[in-house]
Amino acid sequence: MQILAYGLPRLGEKRQYKTLLERFWSGKVSETEFLKGMEALEKERLSTYAAFVDIYPAGELSYYDPMLDLAVAVGLIPQRFQPYEGLSSYFQMARGAQALEMTKWFNTNYHYLVPEWEEPLKLTPQPDIYLQKYEHAKAEGFHNAMPSLIGPYTFLRLSKKNGHSLSAEEIERYGEALLPIYQKVIQALQKAGAQGILIHEPAFVLDEPLVPLIGYLYHSLSQYPLYLLTYYEAVDFYPRLVELPVKGIALDFVAGGANREAIAHYGFPEDKVLIAGVIDGRNVWRADLVAKAKEVEALQRYAKQIWLAPSAPLSFLPLTKAVEKKIPAPVWERLSFAKEKLAELRLLRAYLSGEEEVRAEVEATAALWQGEPLGLHAPTRQRVSSLTEKDFIREVPYAERVRLQSQHLNLPLFPTTTIGSFPQTEDLRALRKAYREGTLPESEYKAKIREKIAEVIRYQEELGLDVLVHGEFERSDMVEFFAERLEGFAITEHGWVLSYGSRVYRAPIIYGDVWRPKPMTVEEIAYAQSLTQKPVKGMLTGPVTILNWSYAPPHKSKEEVAYEIALAIQDEVRDLEAAGIKVIQIDEPAFREGAPLKQRDWPEYFRWAVRAFRLASRALPQTQIHSHMCYSEFESILSYIWEMDFDVISIEASRSKGTLVEEFKRFPQWDRQIGLGVYDIHSPAIPTEESIQAVIEAARRALPDRLLWVNPDCGLKTRRWEEVTPALKNMIQAAQAARESVQAKS
Ligand code: GLN
Ligand code: ZN
Repeated sequence: MQILAYGLPRLGEKRQYKTLLERFWSGKVSETEFLKGMEALEKERLSTYAAFVDIYPAGELSYYDPMLDLAVAVGLIPQRFQPYEGLSSYFQMARGAQALEMTKWFNTNYHYLVPEWEEPLKLTPQPDIYLQKYEHAKAEGFHNAMPSLIGPYTFLRLSKKNGHSLSAEEIERYGEALLPIYQKVIQALQKAGAQGILIHEPAFVLDEPLVPLIGYLYHSLSQYPLYLLTYYEAVDFYPRLVELPVKGIALDFVAGGANREAIAHYGFPEDKVLIAGVIDGRNVWRADLVAKAKEVEALQRYAKQIWLAPSAPLSFLPLTKAVEKKIPAPVWERLSFAKEKLAELRLLRAYLSGEEEVRAEVEATAALWQGEPLGLHAPTRQRVSSLTEKDFIREVPYAERVRLQSQHLNLPLFPTTTIGSFPQTEDLRALRKAYREGTLPESEYKAKIREKIAEVIRYQEELGLDVLVHGEFERSDMVEFFAERLEGFAITEHGWVLSYGSRVYRAPIIYGDVWRPKPMTVEEIAYAQSLTQKPVKGMLTGPVTILNWSYAPPHKSKEEVAYEIALAIQDEVRDLEAAGIKVIQIDEPAFREGAPLKQRDWPEYFRWAVRAFRLASRALPQTQIHSHMCYSEFESILSYIWEMDFDVISIEASRSKGTLVEEFKRFPQWDRQIGLGVYDIHSPAIPTEESIQAVIEAARRALPDRLLWVNPDCGLKTRRWEEVTPALKNMIQAAQAARESVQAKS
């Protein structure tokens, strides 16, 4: 029985990948040094693989993104980047002024670059991208390394043309153009000695698979030794999948439970390898290897040849727990990051092949998960289990709340506000770092934060905003900030994961029951409110986002965890109210992205996600509850959003405002206040008053004036003050102009 692993994080133990990229971009290292550095990192990765597993990818270390690699290899290089001139063009496509669009990779927090088709189609292939890396692996003696590339179907399904996903007809037509080039790329790799080629086809698990096209593509590639990797869910066309003329197929048996039923029902062809994704590649917990061995034995009844594998690429796990020194021992013991997953696979195989010496070790992994769960907190469990329907409902309906709130707040038409954060400057980051590292005493740190808050309150008053914020200066990350203050969370020191390019984040780990030992935000918010007559928004991160941007605990439903977090947030809401806060915003940017890949699972997800938000936001009727979402496609989920029962929502609309307005027309029951982001904070460009007015006018065509707020589309923390000030001035003037036009009419 062989072991295949893939997706080892690109970052490297010391985040060398990030450093190298950023040094290259800023001109601190030459192209030659950059390439050398990448080769060294790739060699380190290959050695890690080779120490544990039999088969692993070569050239997996993309210099930015694997989708971009394939786009370049097959020559899908939009006109504006022509002529293609190696690395400089590559990075122009990735992060230049008119870079390719970036969007979420399936249900992960990674963002890929969207391949862009344009007419007339002119493909200028650059096949060396894979070839050089494969040859390097071979030259270094890694003969079991297989080239690894995204499959043609996934590539096409995730492509866009003129900003829209390809239609089935376009996928077919472009597939025809893609095939001969794709064949050549593979052929060259085979000629160079590749015994097998790993083809990633996660799009096979998406809804509405184009099965005949998939059949056609793979029959056209049948002369090559391909190993198909599917993951993140079960494949809905199993009988047709296993007929494809490939040497092996990977199935996810962790996220794709239905794969197990399919194999039991239809069997598995004798002439193919079943690459059994049994070790969870998405979460950070060690497996019960006794149970895993049983699972594999069950699969052996149907499949003659089995390779062991992780359920999905290991890319979105931290690299190793070996460097974590601050995680409590009982939690640490139960963790398994990417490298540890490789060791688990090896141990599992040894156990399956009857090696006596590993028995005790494997049985210990089962024992780990017996007995009392970690971080048990009886009062929290009690609170969750005694929740009843009324805990999810605000007693006073919106129509009445809105009256109370307008008396309480006395806001003008088209109130102006921001989403929460203001620029996080270098000095601020240095301040937080010093505090974190213990070189700045808490009292001094807090005094500095207060100074910043006072400044930003004065700043907003001078600008003339209507609802103010405290600026979020004490927060580095909107999830980690709360995770650090809640029980049941472990925070890693080095658990960085790539978000895109060289950008990294650290997801907290939920290991136990979540509860709030003491107020988390009241001090700063109440201080901010004490400085002004205008309302200051209390800023909280919502339960669904905290959950979705953390690693979920083992053996507990997401619904349960979401309610625990929601209760902690609800307590915070109550404390903010008691401190005199009249407006509270509960951010849920990850509300949409947490939705399962298959639409048939949406109603269940949104059922508890909506309830979790409602539980968290069960405020007094006169408290105005805001929510904020961004980066989402709202169109398909407007009714779920409405059910969240907030009073006001701010959403990103600068990119999708046209369609969104149409959507509201099709949802006539919409009665909540809404701030359509009037400009894109992701761009350094300063929006003109006219462009902002245009967004306000578009919104006025779809919704009554009394529902409309005016705000940027997200927090301002990544912008500079020089950009923020003129942008907000224009925004406030545009709101004023809209008010005047209403007065003129009446
Ligand atoms: N309140 C947060 C901020 O302003 C919201 C961030 C987000 O939506 N991602 O930074
Ligand atoms: Zn946002």
